[in-house]
Amino acid sequence: MLLGTHLTLLPKAKIAPFSPTVLAPAPSATPSPIDSDIASEIGAVTSPLATDGSVLAVDGTPTRCTPSCGAASPLAVLVWPSILLLPLYMTCGERYRDIFPEEWYAAPEPGQWPSALGLSLGISAVAVGQIFALLYHILRVKGYLGALIPIQRKGAPTYPLASELLSHLAQPEGFAMLGCYLSGTWMMGWMPASYYSFEGGVQWELVALQLLCQDGIQYLMHRIEHKASPALYQASHKPHHRWTNPKLFDAFNGSAADTFLMILVPLFATAHLVQGCNVWTYMAFGSLYANWLTLIHSEFAHPWDAVFRSLGLGTAADHHIHHALFIKNYGHLFMYFDWVCGTYKDPATCSKFNSGV
Ligand SMILES: [Zn+2]
Ligand SMILES: [Zn+2]
Repeated sequence: MLLGTHLTLLPKAKIAPFSPTVLAPAPSATPSPIDSDIASEIGAVTSPLATDGSVLAVDGTPTRCTPSCGAASPLAVLVWPSILLLPLYMTCGERYRDIFPEEWYAAPEPGQWPSALGLSLGISAVAVGQIFALLYHILRVKGYLGALIPIQRKGAPTYPLASELLSHLAQPEGFAMLGCYLSGTWMMGWMPASYYSFEGGVQWELVALQLLCQDGIQYLMHRIEHKASPALYQASHKPHHRWTNPKLFDAFNGSAADTFLMILVPLFATAHLVQGCNVWTYMAFGSLYANWLTLIHSEFAHPWDAVFRSLGLGTAADHHIHHALFIKNYGHLFMYFDWVCGTYKDPATCSKFNSGV
């Protein structure tokens, strides 16, 4: 779908008058031996470079300007509290008690259907987070949030924004499948009892534990999809690897089998492994998880990447390594599992990437 649009770069004038400031790629690190090995193993295409070192688009158009164009806006980091807006708003002074009737958030009696309030708020939390994550991305692409650095030296793919946005939101293997999973497991009472409780606020330590557990199981499922058998890879994960230079809207673009194995199985396991979470904790985890997964597919580096990398948190460049080289960086939110299993590759050591990403 729209594959052709991913492979061609439009002239900058297409997004005028608010064309993004694209920083010149700084000289890339010297390719490591493993870099060359991987590139030849997978037949990777190296980026076209002009004689002056500027990045050329596929059609040969230079995509560079100078670093004096400006820096990324610090306002960009506001996307993170925005992703948590709904659980933070509802729990501040237990505001939810003033908004909803008590029977909607009371603990369900044994044998009763659970109230749909927690489910509705959970899905809404992800939706609110997604609105802000997408708004952040659109403002960047339009040039409102300062300079942009494409992750890969070949430059960021360009595409018709409106149709890609609609396609991202409407992918059946994305939010539709996630919504069905959340609704089914919630209403059937398949979540641990504590997840239905509105008592207390967001339990941040449990949010962190859920994210770690989810990413650890997802790492395992991801490697199984890649390595268990060529048939499994083709039937599940291969569609998500159509892009070696992904963009933000490719985050949930794959297949139903891929979503089931790499997202839903880890979600169900995590819910039953991380005990004691209340509805607000589950909500904060869900919104952080879904929106973080979206953000690491960005075609541009984020302003928080240096801090994230120092903490081992997943960045867009870390995930681009996986899309570009296939056999490295299987983790999404954290790089810890790649570090331990020897599958991590630092974007700074990849000759296909701009430095500073
Ligand atoms: Zn991906
Ligand atoms: Zn993969």
